[in-house]
Amino acid sequence: MKRFALLGEPLEHSLSPLLHKAIYRQLEIDDASYRTVALPEERLKAFFTGFRVGGFDGVNVTIPHKAAVIPLLDEVDTKAKLINAVNCVNRNGNKLTGYNTDLLGFAYSLRQNNVSIGGSEFAILGAGGSAQAVGAVLAEGEAKIVSIMNRTADHAERLKQTIHKVNEAVRVDIVDEQELATRAKDIDCVINTTSVGMFPNTRTSPIKEEIFSSNMLAFDLIYHPLKTAFLRSAEKQGASIVNGLQMLVAQAVYSVEIWMGGNIVAHVDMNSLVRDLEKAIK
Ligand code: NAP
Repeated sequence: MKRFALLGEPLEHSLSPLLHKAIYRQLEIDDASYRTVALPEERLKAFFTGFRVGGFDGVNVTIPHKAAVIPLLDEVDTKAKLINAVNCVNRNGNKLTGYNTDLLGFAYSLRQNNVSIGGSEFAILGAGGSAQAVGAVLAEGEAKIVSIMNRTADHAERLKQTIHKVNEAVRVDIVDEQELATRAKDIDCVINTTSVGMFPNTRTSPIKEEIFSSNMLAFDLIYHPLKTAFLRSAEKQGASIVNGLQMLVAQAVYSVEIWMGGNIVAHVDMNSLVRDLEKAIK
């Protein structure tokens, strides 16, 4: 039996066990289990001591441990190290290797929605852990301009540095909402990486409705609710919208591929997994 888990805190509302079980069902893997392990920061080190010698074959890591696990690993994938966030750990014997599949999941969802990164203009709202993954993907894809809007200036500056570490040719501007509104007509895609609008605070949006227009794509990393206030106001202005569900599904499938090997991403019906989760969220 292969055993996998999600580490974080709090985890009561996590969809990951449901999602992983649906992936195993689709792949007809009947000797794998996935469960949540609610873990406060002070128990992380002890958990990893046990993990290294058995117990689990792989783990996903979520808020607040994505950076804190890094010193506990033997190896970290280059991009995960660059963005200082690991959300997937594989155990091979006693060796622990960290990856970031949020990054892969976000890139997958952009591709599925025909978003071309090269030469396009983006705005990232927020500058936390997931924004680092988003920024790295946009930099790697050679975005023309990335405007960052965030509450805390230091975090925005750190995100700008990450983008430039990946690709220094990308123009990165830190903006406030007024400046964002001024340049909105040229922006192809606005990505919400803040937690503003997440259940249960479903009435709030990180930006005003006037910023959206019909030639924009609004991408919200949030998936609960399926249509946030951010996406609702974008839709009202005629913008195309994408929520975070496809990214969530894809990061989980990439994790399974890392743990089990093989070409799992190509063999899974992601759309059917998205539909399973939509039913669970509604
Ligand atoms: P995080 O590291 O805690 O970052 C949160 C960001 O939101 C920070 O930039 C923070 O600003 C900003 N923020 C929080 N409350 C705010 C408020 N009231 N007003 C303005 N800004 C606020 O979290 P994360 O890991 O990046 O996750 C962010 C969201 O993405 C969550 O909703 C999460 O569920 C979602 N997510 C989805 C996926 C997916 O697969 N779809 C993957 C990862 C994350 P400061 O910098 O000023 O603190």
